[in-house]
Amino acid sequence: MDVAVIGGSVAGLQAALTLGRARRQVVLFDDGQARNRTASHVHNYLGAVDVAPAELLAIGRRQLATYGVEVRDGRVEEVTPDDDGFVVDGRQVRVVVLATGLWDELPDVPGVADGWGQSVVACPHCHGWEVRDQPLVQLGMRGAPDRSVARALLLSRWSDDVVLCTDGDALSGTHLDRLAAAGVKVRTERVAEVGSGVRLVNGESLAARRVFVVVRQHQQSDLAERLGCQVADGAVVVDEGGRTTVPGVYAVGTTAAPALLAIGAAGHASTAAVAVHGDLLESDLGGGW
Ligand SMILES: Cc1cc2nc3c(=O)[nH]c(=O)nc-3n(C[C@H](O)[C@H](O)[C@H](O)COP(=O)(O)OP(=O)(O)OC[C@H]3O[C@@H](n4cnc5c(N)ncnc54)[C@H](O)[C@@H]3O)c2cc1C
Repeated sequence: MDVAVIGGSVAGLQAALTLGRARRQVVLFDDGQARNRTASHVHNYLGAVDVAPAELLAIGRRQLATYGVEVRDGRVEEVTPDDDGFVVDGRQVRVVVLATGLWDELPDVPGVADGWGQSVVACPHCHGWEVRDQPLVQLGMRGAPDRSVARALLLSRWSDDVVLCTDGDALSGTHLDRLAAAGVKVRTERVAEVGSGVRLVNGESLAARRVFVVVRQHQQSDLAERLGCQVADGAVVVDEGGRTTVPGVYAVGTTAAPALLAIGAAGHASTAAVAVHGDLLESDLGGGW
């Protein structure tokens, strides 16, 4: 087997597709935790109209079958380097592509986790268009006013009716001036609950067609670190071909570039897969890594 791809969301599937089409022997492992799995649709993905996240991945899996890519459901707990490459779940492979993605640490406010992906989202580029010109709340991240203000300013491009709830943080005069210039209203009270709108601790309710939150992102898997790959600022460090600092280990999609939207993650994976194929070819011809 040439390649084990670990992670079968958009990045992993695209890496496997590109490698399968290059006639590489590929096995893909996935444990079904695509980051957007609670969302109703994938937006801003060329060619995907009204497509649910699970449906997009199912289409991808069907495509892979054409090229003989083996897909295995389940979590990879261990990748063991050996003289011939790596052993993954009992399979000998020459190289490993990590497409293990991220998980989102949500604000600790009642209702946020329950609504995540539906009434509560994070990214206006993914979910802003669908609620344009409607009342929106940006829930800030406590202790990170710069990020909270930046997100509210971004959101103001989709609606004239945006309220930034700082959940107890005070803002500077510069922050307030910038928000006022963008037409964003500000509430600094603590937030009691998020539901169909936002309830403040004083009992007041704010209407919101969607609540946008600021999240902290974390790697879904520590395989990269355990393999000795350099990880910096929450991302596996790679070069332009997705090569990590460990020969034979690649990282693609949000594993390596956390800010990527779905199509960007797939594109990154496709570019890296071309590099993987080129590196394997060099190795086939007697070159090293
Ligand atoms: C609520 C929400 C909605 C979103 N909506 C949109 C949108 O509309 N449009 C858009 O462009 N972007 C959207 N995004 C962003 C989008 O989800 C990401 O850009 C995209 O999922 C990144 O894909 P990925 O393949 O890099 O990683 P992920 O989607 O995070 O997938 C990683 C995969 O690896 C698997 N995995 C991890 N570790 C292991 C292991 N050890 N063994 C086996 N499998 C493993 C996981 O199960 C998962 O399937 C949204 C994000 C969220 C949170």
